[in-house]
Amino acid sequence: MVAPGITGHTRPTKVKKQAAAQKRKRDDVDVEQLEAAVERLDPKNETYKDFTDLPLSEPTKLGLKSCHYAVMTDIQARAIPLALKGCDILGAAKTGSGKTLSFIIPVLENLYRLQHIGMDAGLGALIISPTRELAIQIFDVLRKLGRHGHMFAAGLVIGGKSLDAERQALTRMNILVGTPGRILQHLSQTVAFNVDDLKMLVLDEADRILDMGFQRDVDAILEYLPKERQTLLFSATQSKKLSDLARLSLQEPEYVSVHAEDKSATPKTLQQNYIICPLDEKLDTLWSFIQASKKSKILCFFSSAKLVRFVYESFRHMQPGIPLLHIHGRQKQGARLDTTAKFSAAKYSCLFATDVAARGLDFPAVDFVIQVDCPEDAETYIHRVGRTARYNREGRGVLFLTPSEEEGMLKRLEAKKVPVELINVRQKKRQSIKDQLVHMLFKDPQLKYLAQKAFVTYVKSIYLQKDKEIFNLKEYDLEKFAGSLGLPGAPRIKFLKDDDARKRKAVSRQELEVSESSDEGEEDGQPAQKKAKTVRTKYDRMFERQNQDILADHYKKLVRDDMEGGAAASADQDAEKEAADDADDDFLAVKRRIPAEDDVSDIESAVDEATSAEARGRKVVNLPGASQPLIIDSNRREKLLKSKKKLLKLKDKGKKIVYDDEGNPHEIYELEDEADFKARGLPEEQRKKYLEAAREEVQAADVTDKATAKAKRKEKMRKRKERERAEAEAAAGGVEIGDEGVDALANFRADAESGGSEDEEDAPKGKKQKKWFQSDSEGEEGDRKKRAKKAKTEVQEPQTLEDLEALAAGLLG
Ligand code: ADP
Ligand code: MG
Repeated sequence: MVAPGITGHTRPTKVKKQAAAQKRKRDDVDVEQLEAAVERLDPKNETYKDFTDLPLSEPTKLGLKSCHYAVMTDIQARAIPLALKGCDILGAAKTGSGKTLSFIIPVLENLYRLQHIGMDAGLGALIISPTRELAIQIFDVLRKLGRHGHMFAAGLVIGGKSLDAERQALTRMNILVGTPGRILQHLSQTVAFNVDDLKMLVLDEADRILDMGFQRDVDAILEYLPKERQTLLFSATQSKKLSDLARLSLQEPEYVSVHAEDKSATPKTLQQNYIICPLDEKLDTLWSFIQASKKSKILCFFSSAKLVRFVYESFRHMQPGIPLLHIHGRQKQGARLDTTAKFSAAKYSCLFATDVAARGLDFPAVDFVIQVDCPEDAETYIHRVGRTARYNREGRGVLFLTPSEEEGMLKRLEAKKVPVELINVRQKKRQSIKDQLVHMLFKDPQLKYLAQKAFVTYVKSIYLQKDKEIFNLKEYDLEKFAGSLGLPGAPRIKFLKDDDARKRKAVSRQELEVSESSDEGEEDGQPAQKKAKTVRTKYDRMFERQNQDILADHYKKLVRDDMEGGAAASADQDAEKEAADDADDDFLAVKRRIPAEDDVSDIESAVDEATSAEARGRKVVNLPGASQPLIIDSNRREKLLKSKKKLLKLKDKGKKIVYDDEGNPHEIYELEDEADFKARGLPEEQRKKYLEAAREEVQAADVTDKATAKAKRKEKMRKRKERERAEAEAAAGGVEIGDEGVDALANFRADAESGGSEDEEDAPKGKKQKKWFQSDSEGEEGDRKKRAKKAKTEVQEPQTLEDLEALAAGLLG
């Protein structure tokens, strides 16, 4: 339709422009009325029920209508009026209770009333989210609500995209949604990003953003923001830590906590259960559960990305009959977005996730939230389980607890007002997938690798958990857990290995002590028993070998060898040695003795040992270059003889020697004969004498140095005078080529004169050019000319010695 007074020939752009101008005009009226209405608003009044009860702008009203939002939720009814009036807010309400709109509406409205719109206005509101997915979701809500007439430029910065592309757009933004890291990156690197006029700061999932993980980034962001602003914090689990409030420079914040008096901290429509499930039965139980609930939407939480991947990959191979998805922080951004979109859209699906999906995400109609690994604390539990039963819908949460986790976790949940009820797993319906996993891992080394990694990260996560009342690593049967993942044995873990090794040492020491103090028959018997216990098949070895490359578990075999053969043999040998030498001290018998006496006796004792060993019929090898003979008492030692590299280690280290003028060898640092030293007098006197001699030497050197410097100066002066003379003569007519210096001067002059005025004009330009695109040789050329010019002007009146030197240097090229 064409506006009145405009002909049909008018180009549509003009029509649009006029319409926009009219709208702006109407906006102005709107703004004044709105401002007055907000003034009149009474936040304590509890009669506001619908969005239409609030003084909102037309575009926002249209947006709400198009999204079919009519009645406000509790948190919205309480928080929005306060926020419209400009208060700082700490908002706490259960998961899925509509907190997003509680800050999106005030952001749009407050900026609208301030007419903080357009490129020149700069950033008006900053909304921070702990995860990318949540930031995207918030941005989506903002877009849906704002696209019915609001003119703000809104942007999303979450990383995973090119900084440059974002940078361009940033300068125009009025509202920005993002994650802390990326926002900080832009604040510190994008020059044109102007936040000086920021009016509102919003932290969604505020407790998470303010906790340790984000502390550094958030503190740095706050440094950039103006202190005069409105700050809104929202979360399902809100901390009221004073230090946080001070960090955010909140001004008399309003606490809006709508469900604080409720009996439970979780939605009423949520049914919450837990089962007791030993670690090694978790996967069987999960698999059986999924099999029994193929017609549902399930979200499963695990403690680490590796575990998520392993379960996803292995379950996928087993034809689960329901679409599987997985999400964790180590995926590429594209994959993460894809997954959240697919899960949102899916009717039946099972998503395996880490805690990246625990907060804020609003997947429609999730039936089950299964927490396969125990959450680190009650807050995390609340957020995870809050992905279901959102906005008055129903949902179920099931928490898997190992027997050792039960007591501690229940205590924490109770303290946070989370009602969970124990249920049993129907054992009849439980299928074991262990054999399938073993088979798959056997066939697919990559899957096996994943399983090992999953095992390690799980153990690590337990080890690192802060709440030791819930998580006690000793209580978990790791060997069985590894078996349940399909692994032939528990991979050794570095941080546990040290502990283990220490323990093993202590045990073997105790054993030795006991056995040696008791009768000898037992002592012989024990190692024999040990050997008998550990007959390994070819297959055992094969499995062990496969483990090695991945977890660098090379030690495992060596350690075991030591335990089985080596330790036993050495215990044996030590005992015999002790019997031969000195049987008094039991403790020392365990370890090789390192005597504190000097080398000689060491060697003697070694030789003793060797002779006694020889006497016992063992082979003794005298290595060239080794002070101690090598006793060959095992196959391993026998093999060692074949490796030059290993033998090298047994040889003594060589000494560095220097030769004097007569060709006599000396060690690099030799000690002087003490008698000679003392004969020369007291050390203090010697020191004085030495210092005096050195001083004299230096003084003498100083005199000669000064003399040569003077001579040099004189020579320079002479040359300068010669040059002056030559110059005067050249000026008078002919160029006399006397020595090099004069020749050079003549050339420069010729340069300067032929370049004439051009050179003078170019000089500054030349200097500038060198910086950007002149090559080095060109630069030198320019410098040379400059120096020549300087020479030319300064030759008339050299002021100081430096002038002279510079001149001479220039002339000599
Ligand atoms: P929270 O942040 O509190 O966990 P959200 O803001 O994500 O909750 O909202 C949860 C769901 O409730 C969303 O799907 C949202 O569309 C819906 N919702 C929010 N407010 C209303 C409302 N006033 N009327 C109808 N649905 C709403
Ligand atoms: Mg939320």
